[in-house]
Amino acid sequence: MAKTPSFSCSACGASHTRWSGRCDSCGEWNTIVQETPLSAGPAKKSLGGKRGQPIALSDLSTEETPPPRTLCGVEELDRVLGGGLVPASALLVGGDPGIGKSTLLLQAAARFARNGIKTIYVSGEEASAQVRMRARRLGLEESPVQLAAETNLRDILTTLEAKKPGLAIIDSIQTMWADNVDSAPGSVSQVRAAAHELTTFAKRHGVSIIMVGHVTKEGQIAGPRVVEHMVDTVLYFEGERGHQFRILRAVKNRFGPADEIGVFEMTGKGLAQVTNPSALFLSERGTPSPGSAVFAGIEGTRPVLVELQALVAPSPHSQPRRTVVGWDSGRLAMILAVLEARCGIPFAGLDVYLNVAGGLKIGEPAADLAVAAALLSAREDTALPADTVVFGEISLSGALRPAPQTENRLKEAQKLGFTSAIAPAGGKTGTVAGLTLTRPSDLVGFVGETFGAG
Ligand SMILES: [Zn+2]
Repeated sequence: MAKTPSFSCSACGASHTRWSGRCDSCGEWNTIVQETPLSAGPAKKSLGGKRGQPIALSDLSTEETPPPRTLCGVEELDRVLGGGLVPASALLVGGDPGIGKSTLLLQAAARFARNGIKTIYVSGEEASAQVRMRARRLGLEESPVQLAAETNLRDILTTLEAKKPGLAIIDSIQTMWADNVDSAPGSVSQVRAAAHELTTFAKRHGVSIIMVGHVTKEGQIAGPRVVEHMVDTVLYFEGERGHQFRILRAVKNRFGPADEIGVFEMTGKGLAQVTNPSALFLSERGTPSPGSAVFAGIEGTRPVLVELQALVAPSPHSQPRRTVVGWDSGRLAMILAVLEARCGIPFAGLDVYLNVAGGLKIGEPAADLAVAAALLSAREDTALPADTVVFGEISLSGALRPAPQTENRLKEAQKLGFTSAIAPAGGKTGTVAGLTLTRPSDLVGFVGETFGAG
């Protein structure tokens, strides 16, 4: 049988029958690469032909003891993991190159090792000397972490089997090379095969394995999304290189809540945890100015206050600009449309810029009302009242919906010294002392109350 060439997207892993410039599954350009198909092997018989082992079945009422977890002692990291590291779990930590993944994981490795977990750090990116140098810079050189610089997966697995560590860190999955797969390291099939081998190994031998995956821009190297479905937990390390804040976000977690975040600050001594992110995200806020609104959000299980900044200016272009950093651009278009259709406030002919301060990415619809507040404040050139937080979801009809965990948001605002809040009617507010609540039922009411007649 002749081998037919196959193509797959190195960003999302979708397979395609022929090459094209754009992947229609994830929309990325120039990410489709040809893959050498796996050797066909002996003709496959149906699985039922040979008898397998009967597997043990249990009923639904069987009590399951939760797996024992190990804490590393860095609260921000333990929380993102869902309350510590689960034995025999496979984790993926993705992020842009150079953002600090290796630094974070070396610090975590040192912590786990000090807490009595036998830890091996395998670097396929750097020589052992470089990792040791980093360890010295971070003041971790005395930690009992075992180090290796290797890319041959077979050798790595043999070593792990002999040394029996509790935790192995593989930096990075894109440099691993499985010799049973006939393609270059970093290709979709190599990355997949390596991740599969490592995940299976983790389950079979009770080793927790953390794999580092670089988010890549060009198509020759497969990105971490290709292996997301195989592992138990997927964490992404976000942040701008020029910014000192880093956010570790759980996008998938079989052993804990997804969407949990940990906030870190890049310091000369490595990454330091930030236990009060609200204070940090608001620290750059000056005197109240037009276009600024404070959103009381929830990230994972924790309330986080963050400043939204908008700029609205007459556009010299026939097609005005809509630029968003840290929020969904489709959602912004929707808010603008609702403001125009329901409140009669046009944004045509105006450039609109929206920015979430501090490099945080917000995914909550509850930010709608805060976005609308920032946009209107910028457009009317009127600062919102100081010490006010805003949150709530806007529907296409212009009605406002209460946000989940209203009480937690209000409590956080009060804790940080805010004295008033604008939140939709409905939703459990509890009793939060010292906070004046304004509760509009629709967007028109909100605009009238906050900006006068508009
Ligand atoms: Zn794709």
